Amino acid sequence: MMEMAGLTLHGLATVTSHRLRSRGALLHSCRATGILQSSLRPFAGFSPCQANPLCSATGLQAAGRSHRPCRLEQATRCQVQVRAASGNGASSHDSGHYDYDLFTIGAGSGGVRASRFAASNYGAKVAICELPFARVSSDKLGGAGGTCVLRGCVPKKLMVIGGEFSDSFRDSMGFGWETLGNGQLPQVAWERFMEKKNKELERLNGVYMKLLDGAGVEYFEGRGKIIDAHTLEVDGKRFTAKNILIAVGARAWRLPIEGTELTMTSDEILDLEKLPRKLAIIGSGYIALEFASIYNNYGSDVHVFFRQELPLRGFDEECRQFMNDQYALRGLNLHPTHSPTKVAKGEDGKLTLWTKDRSGKETVTEGIDHVLMATGRKPNTRNLGLEDAGVDIEESSGAIKVDEYSRTNVPSIWAIGDVTDRIALTPVALMEGMAFAKNAFGGESGAKPDYENVASAVFSSPPLASVGLTEEGALAEYGNIDVFTSSFRPMKATIGGGEGKAFMKLIVASDSDKVIGVHMIGPDCAEIMQGMAVAVKMGVTKQQLDTVVGIHPSSAEEFVTMRSPARQLREKPEPQKTEKEPELAAVPPKPY
Ligand code: FAD
Repeated sequence: MMEMAGLTLHGLATVTSHRLRSRGALLHSCRATGILQSSLRPFAGFSPCQANPLCSATGLQAAGRSHRPCRLEQATRCQVQVRAASGNGASSHDSGHYDYDLFTIGAGSGGVRASRFAASNYGAKVAICELPFARVSSDKLGGAGGTCVLRGCVPKKLMVIGGEFSDSFRDSMGFGWETLGNGQLPQVAWERFMEKKNKELERLNGVYMKLLDGAGVEYFEGRGKIIDAHTLEVDGKRFTAKNILIAVGARAWRLPIEGTELTMTSDEILDLEKLPRKLAIIGSGYIALEFASIYNNYGSDVHVFFRQELPLRGFDEECRQFMNDQYALRGLNLHPTHSPTKVAKGEDGKLTLWTKDRSGKETVTEGIDHVLMATGRKPNTRNLGLEDAGVDIEESSGAIKVDEYSRTNVPSIWAIGDVTDRIALTPVALMEGMAFAKNAFGGESGAKPDYENVASAVFSSPPLASVGLTEEGALAEYGNIDVFTSSFRPMKATIGGGEGKAFMKLIVASDSDKVIGVHMIGPDCAEIMQGMAVAVKMGVTKQQLDTVVGIHPSSAEEFVTMRSPARQLREKPEPQKTEKEPELAAVPPKPY
């Protein structure tokens, strides 16, 4: 046994891998030569995998540091015999009798990332189980890649991109393009589109399996169930593991109204054989509005019913109002303060939806092809054996209770991603997976996910992206804030003919000058917001933003050229500048 750079090499745990990286060291031994090479080399010359199709396809690039370096990946397959020095989980063999160091249940975003990271970065012996592949999930069906890749972010974004062509076709006329022949704009061949989308999902499912295989993670197809703190079953076959990671995600939940079985969830709406003529959507979260926009763009008659006055609860109020107006302008039929009471199917196969507003007035909507219930998601904790293993769950939501390191009340069982109901987004599940692996196998016992300033986007038409606090949240937390706003017609719309407007908003804590909230509605806002999120995370001040030279002509330049606040809200007295604060006194006055 020899110890190096925090790693202990054993002749015991044998992990097939190309190399092991730890604290800047590279250790590998080649099966081909039979020579154990272990060298302390800096990681120079190996850049994160740029050719990985997943990076561009799924947006996983944000957390791309976990990708293995390509050059080594293409080299002769090597075998390493390793064991992390940390005593909290990396080897099965210090305690001698477990089949695996880690067994993960669920090969979605979080499970795959954690398993790959633990195996390839820390040399853990890892296995994962996942349900058989299907585009529509059930208790028995799923597939490697999980919700994001097969029934969430990826298929949805493909449909968002597809739908947005309708604006481009229309705008192109203003820019001098002409139709050939009858003057009609192009029509969608829906079946062909669905076929291409489905092929892409199958390809990505395969890519995920390959990624796991490449990292040396053993894959078992079947339903995982926990038996006790160190034992689980996959379709009846038993395994033991030093650590068990639950990464089973969540599934769509339907309101229990009469006829609810006639409605569909986001899984099915992503997989329609025919483009619906008329669609009703219940709910007004981001998933509801994204599907409303997709089908509206493709030409369906879309009706959205929701309990609130405005859609997108939880987002900045001014942005909600702006989005509401833009949705209406684009032809979405919004039915605020309406709750569904019943769905029924007629002899012609069409659906009728009954809703009631707050005053009790009933509305009946007929001739609907599909009713989408976008009314929330519930963690997949049923029939998982959690009770037998003594794992605590939240009674109301069914989410697994974890501490800040993603550990459950049973020390060997951990949980990450949507099943814990913290922030249900893919990059958050990835972050939780990596923090878990660092903590359990990397000797970084303090590694934990950081939920501050997580940026997010609503990919509707128009899209909305945000990072940091809403105006309401900022006022409650900081008391004194300056709000900068800008609204304008995007250049494409000027001669393209679109009526939509863009909106941008900066929220600044006036006492410290820190930018604490950024919001944007309009083309490319998600791309722009990713950059703004970096600045906000690093604690950018308004004054620093003002020193940035804009890129012209662009929408993004507005964020560095907003000079006069739209309003200054003061709930706390201005801080007295005392001699104890020389650094504040030294700051030159703001240029507005
Ligand atoms: P999942 O990805 O759901 O993976 C869980 C896996 O566990 C599944 O593959 C499942 O089949 C498997 N499983 C379940 N039970 C078992 C069992 N007993 N045994 C074995 N396997 C099991 N997030 C974003 O960041 N951006 C977006 O644009 C976005 N859009 C979305 C759009 C829609 C329509 C939906 C529904 C979600 C969207 N999300 C988006 C959320 C994102 O998809 C999830 O946050 C993310 O997938 C959570 O990852 P996870 O690993 O926790 O779970």
